[in-house]
Amino acid sequence: MTTITQSKRQLVWVFDLNKCIGCQTCSVACKMLWPQEDAGTEHMWWMTVNTQPGRGTPRDWETMGGGYNGDGIKLGHIPTDEEFGGGWDYNYDEVLRGGKGRKVHLQKTAGSKTWGMNWDEDEGGGEFPNAYFFYLPRMCNHCTDAACVEACPSGAMFKRESDGLVLRDEDACTGNKQCASACPYKKIYFNEARGVSQHCIGCFPRLEQGVAPACVRQCPGRAAFVGFLDDESSAVHRLVKKHRIALPLHPEFNTTPNVFYVPPLAPAPLREDGSWDENASRIPPETLEGLFGVEVHGALDILRSELDKKRRGKESEVMDELILYQWKDCLGHLTRDPSEIVWKQS
Ligand code: SF4
Ligand code: SF4
Ligand code: SF4
Repeated sequence: MTTITQSKRQLVWVFDLNKCIGCQTCSVACKMLWPQEDAGTEHMWWMTVNTQPGRGTPRDWETMGGGYNGDGIKLGHIPTDEEFGGGWDYNYDEVLRGGKGRKVHLQKTAGSKTWGMNWDEDEGGGEFPNAYFFYLPRMCNHCTDAACVEACPSGAMFKRESDGLVLRDEDACTGNKQCASACPYKKIYFNEARGVSQHCIGCFPRLEQGVAPACVRQCPGRAAFVGFLDDESSAVHRLVKKHRIALPLHPEFNTTPNVFYVPPLAPAPLREDGSWDENASRIPPETLEGLFGVEVHGALDILRSELDKKRRGKESEVMDELILYQWKDCLGHLTRDPSEIVWKQS
């Protein structure tokens, strides 16, 4: 489909949506490490975790276009600052240092954002008592058919040959935002201070030292996995290729993403008499199909059957893999302890 130079190997991520607790540790770990201090990066959250169903980050990103159709690359909307959103500002000075005693109270200041990184947290969908929600961690998918690379007219964006990361030569970036327009996942931010686009760098300085990306290593839910897709000894290979229970998000965008998700099962719905309906799904199947394509039904069938085996005391390689008894098993070949390394500041 594309003219992109392909990599020899592909690093992939897997997120188990049955274990993600929406704690945002991955988002904060990324933010603390990368887009934290430099001017122009304040609004950037390369890793975001949103409640589903929900409008996401940037707001309504799924409807903004990009990716490929039958005729080739399809440019879309470039998210605005308002759609990315941000935190609220408060009148701290007036309350704490204004000398007005108890006559003033904390309130958000004029001009505060009307959307944010996880604005609709835990709202979810469905009706009581069968309401439901789940969390969806999202980062750049380091796509095989990366629309951002294809669209970049200055050749600044490329797929790294050694591991398939989609990276950017910031010296070559002219700030035309074509990458942000073409990315259907809307995972590219613009740095106004420097006039360049920026996005998840796959934690490449860590990878080069044998250390896993921060979003994976810091995940307290043991919900994140990383590794080479062709490494048969890695959990990601088994989850994606062998067991076929980890699926890409919005495969219809046609960018061949390399971040995969184990779809959520959710508790069985309750009948009016208060009993469980074990044969029905609380999350509408069409909702999950809308996110992960038709293959989600087969993946859910496998998960239900393996869960049933485990509950009956039988062996289940799939469930053992997902339970992740040894947490380092989620790191693939990237098991080195980052605290052993003397990191150089650039
Ligand atoms: Fe989910 Fe792990 Fe991120 Fe927490 S750190 S939000 S559990 S993926
Ligand atoms: Fe490019 Fe978007 Fe795919 Fe990342 S998710 S590689 S920015 S098209
Ligand atoms: Fe952030 Fe690194 Fe995870 Fe990318 S791989 S989202 S840069 S922590």
